[in-house]
Amino acid sequence: QEPKITYNRVMLKISGEALMGDQGFGLHPPTVQRIAEEVKSVRDLGVEICMVIGGGNIFRGLQGSAQGMERTTADYMGMLATVMNALAMQAALESIGVFTRVISAIPMDQVCEPYIRRRAVRHLEKKRVCIFAAGTGNPYFTTDTAATLRANEMACQAVFKGTKVDGVYNKDPKKHADAVRYDTVSYDECLEKNLGVMDATAIALARDNKLPIVVFSLDEPGGFRAILSGRGTYTKVGG
Ligand code: UDP
Repeated sequence: QEPKITYNRVMLKISGEALMGDQGFGLHPPTVQRIAEEVKSVRDLGVEICMVIGGGNIFRGLQGSAQGMERTTADYMGMLATVMNALAMQAALESIGVFTRVISAIPMDQVCEPYIRRRAVRHLEKKRVCIFAAGTGNPYFTTDTAATLRANEMACQAVFKGTKVDGVYNKDPKKHADAVRYDTVSYDECLEKNLGVMDATAIALARDNKLPIVVFSLDEPGGFRAILSGRGTYTKVGG
């Protein structure tokens, strides 16, 4: 029997790269569909779900600017990439009967809704999955910061960051066999040791608003649902 879920409303943050499967770039539709199923299984428990999806599988501002493009222009391209990912996820969710709204920080009315906080809250109350796209709408930020910002605005109880590893380690577990996973770690320790959970802006915003960040593996089938019911391995950033 599954333990009782203590969460009513959560933010799921995934990187754009999580959608590319084994490809080196872009979207891998079966992978998008698999993640949509994970989201549905949590939605089916009655949990209200916000999502932020990165854009790194398509475009990253820093890479563009390293190649000589103006940083702000490159960042806007990165934000547009997140809109594409959001639309792909919306299509995957709606194909399995999950009502979804894509809500963009940069208005583009023909494509999706503009961000209006009260309207987004209403969607959540009606059990629609809200995918917040175009990051914060500002260059020089990341989608981790967007996830933390929207999670605060929507009064989410935690940000769940789905990654390729099952938590936060003292060093890269893919490179070091003796890497140790933290069960819990403080915001300040993440910042001091540069643990790579999220960028510093995102962590500081979570810390200042006492918003927990739960890092877990998205590669584990049923992982998101398990973590929400307190099972499986993960790291909780807080305190
Ligand atoms: N971005 C931005 N402002 C934001 C969020 C994102 O300028 O508020 C741009 C930035 O260029 C970033 C790109 O969008 O590189 C994609 O987002 P991110 O790198 O966070 O995606 P992820 O690594 O999660 O796939």
